[in-house]
Amino acid sequence: MENEYDPKYFDIEKWAMTHPTSITSDGYIRIKIPDGHPNLNKGRYIHYHRLVMEKKLGRFLNPKEIVHHIDENKLNNEDFNLELFQNSREHHNLRHGAIKYPKLWDRQWLGGEYTVKGRATQDIADELGCNRVNVRYAILKLGIPLRRYTVTAEVMKHVKIAAKLGGRKPK
Ligand SMILES: [Zn+2]
Repeated sequence: MENEYDPKYFDIEKWAMTHPTSITSDGYIRIKIPDGHPNLNKGRYIHYHRLVMEKKLGRFLNPKEIVHHIDENKLNNEDFNLELFQNSREHHNLRHGAIKYPKLWDRQWLGGEYTVKGRATQDIADELGCNRVNVRYAILKLGIPLRRYTVTAEVMKHVKIAAKLGGRKPK
């Protein structure tokens, strides 16, 4: 009976010693995929750090999941140096965005600008040199309450007219 590959008990270092490894053009160690690994779409090679994360989690990674190197050293694949993100957007915004725009992830600063001063997300983005989407994402992730636009009587009048004409109520 063949042993079923289990990421939790897989000896990565031992495997790496006896199977082809290389460094990708963007600086990651990759390794010939172990038999039984489901990720066969990369020419039978897989990033070493992904195997380490799979061992840490005891399960295979979803291809969308991203493993980040905390110290930014792509060759430091110790499990404590690796952090898992659900997808590349989350990874980029929370880690690389945070390094690039530290103020964006400073809850006190962002809350002050957005909630207290009432600045527009575009205005904040312009100051930081990032995209408005990044600002909105940080606001949501940091749990800063989104501002609601004040609905004035004037606006309500238009809403009522629109409703009468069969238009949809704005969200
Ligand atoms: Zn990263």
